Formats: sequence, C-alpha cells, structure tokens
Amino acid sequence: MTALHHAEQLSGRRLLVRWARDAGGRVLMVKTGSCFEGFPRLEPALRPLVRTARVGESRWTAYPVEEALSAACGAMSADQPVTHCADEGCPRCRDSIAGGPIGPAPLR
Ligand SMILES: [Zn+2]
Repeated sequence: MTALHHAEQLSGRRLLVRWARDAGGRVLMVKTGSCFEGFPRLEPALRPLVRTARVGESRWTAYPVEEALSAACGAMSADQPVTHCADEGCPRCRDSIAGGPIGPAPLR
C-alpha cells in the first residue's frame, strides 16, 4: 500500500531521495519511499480496519485511508523498527528507521 510511505512521514521519518532526469534532461532530486518489504509487519495495526470483497474470481482488500494512515503512523511512532524487512543489512530500512536523510545532498 503506497500510502504507507506517507504514514512514514507522519511518524517523523524523512523520505529517502533519488536523482532523476526531467523531460528537459535536468537532474532533479526527488523524494522516494523506503523499503516496503517490511510493511506487512503493520498488519496487526491495520487488521481492525480491513475491508474485503470478492470481485469475480479476485479477492480485494481495502482500508479506509485516513484511519489506516493513523494506525500505521501510531505503530511506527511507537516502534520505528516495526517496518524493518527480513534483511538485517537492508540500508534503506536502516536509514529510514533512523529518520531518513538530513539536509539536502549535493549533486556530484
Ligand atoms: Zn528493507
């Protein structure tokens, strides 16, 4: 759920950054989400909010976004490592849980 990256910000994390070229070829710094592999660990906090439906042969899962953001933010605020993925050496999880980048990074 991409919205969980917003919950990261609400919990006090700064988004990670990457660099990309715009249509004119200029290099821009853009914010990007952290590693999402650990987001399923938020399931206990989100479980009370889950809504499911069957559409044809497909089973859909949805959450009310404001309540889900609040629940995810609360879980992360109480325990930042809750979203760490299974890779103990994951640099994206390490940096996000530590709060994210500090200050603008210079382009090289
Ligand atoms: Zn990770």
